[in-house]
Amino acid sequence: MTNKKITKKDIAKLLSQWSREFTVFVPSMESGVAAMARWDGKDAGFLDWYRNTIVSPKSIVFPDLEEMFSFQKDKEGYHIELPASDEHKQLIFGIRPCDARALNILDAPFKDAYEDPYYLPKRRNTVLVGLGCTKPCDSCFCTSLGISPSESTDVDIMLTDIGNQFLIEPVSEAGKELIDTTSRVEEATETDEARAKEVKEASYHKVTRKIDTEDIKKKLLPNFDNQNYWEKIAAKCVSCGICTFLCPTCYCFDINDELVKGQGARFRSWDSCAFPIYTKMPMENPREEKWRRVRQKVNHKYGFHPMNFDIIACTGCGRCIRLCPVNWDITQALNSLPAKV
Ligand code: SF4
Ligand code: SF4
Repeated sequence: MTNKKITKKDIAKLLSQWSREFTVFVPSMESGVAAMARWDGKDAGFLDWYRNTIVSPKSIVFPDLEEMFSFQKDKEGYHIELPASDEHKQLIFGIRPCDARALNILDAPFKDAYEDPYYLPKRRNTVLVGLGCTKPCDSCFCTSLGISPSESTDVDIMLTDIGNQFLIEPVSEAGKELIDTTSRVEEATETDEARAKEVKEASYHKVTRKIDTEDIKKKLLPNFDNQNYWEKIAAKCVSCGICTFLCPTCYCFDINDELVKGQGARFRSWDSCAFPIYTKMPMENPREEKWRRVRQKVNHKYGFHPMNFDIIACTGCGRCIRLCPVNWDITQALNSLPAKV
């Protein structure tokens, strides 16, 4: 199948068509916070302001708060009711390549290591329509993690901005099938393809922040017990947890029960290794000092996760740099790992 194209003014009609089959999520702004939210059926005005969302699209497959089951307590004990199976089809329009890769990274703990019954149905039923970045932020460093801002093998369909139109590339079988049944798309010409190639190359070179993952691999574990280094690196962190909540690859969660007059539910909610009260295992958080928690965050992403799953749990999306209230910067931390311990 050759590539297709669509004019930008037809995007709302495209979303409207897809809305008949899917719950469609698009970049949306509420109270100044950009997140993927259900399309309101009106227009595609987000194309004017969208660079990336503040809240990552992981929240669609791994919500910040999710009911695991409800229960009733009576004289005979507890009666448990599981939530209805979540098999409805959904589509995320405009996901960036870094965030699409993040979902693949989340598959490791939620699909490969353990089959999570809450995550998997949502993930399986989610079609990803990627939109290439043409204006990466200063904080982005995706290219250092082997990700292109404008190309992706982690999506079903990839769009590239070629002026008044988007080039449409089907990536997966599901993407091909969807394009086959979508109206308002036309065949792309050689000129469109050439323009898309230029746009992709230009975007790639706009990502100027870099880290050297091979160098980090050599230095990270030997510095694990380098307390001086981690104390220095952790000094300005205020343990707010924003970086981990907004990180598209962080997946720690807490579990709590709520019980009122014999009825209740068990919920899971995002948690953060940055919090002093995180992992209160049988007694206390084993990482009481802040430097240990910062060390854990960095080592989990760049050391332990690749050891377990063969992939670094960071996409270089830069959210943790852009949104940290004290300008803590993971690239500075990684780039300043001492060579000699
Ligand atoms: S967002 Fe910044 S201050 Fe907050 S926990 Fe992360 S690094 Fe620390
Ligand atoms: S660690 Fe920071 S740059 Fe890496 S994926 Fe998470 S938020 Fe993005």
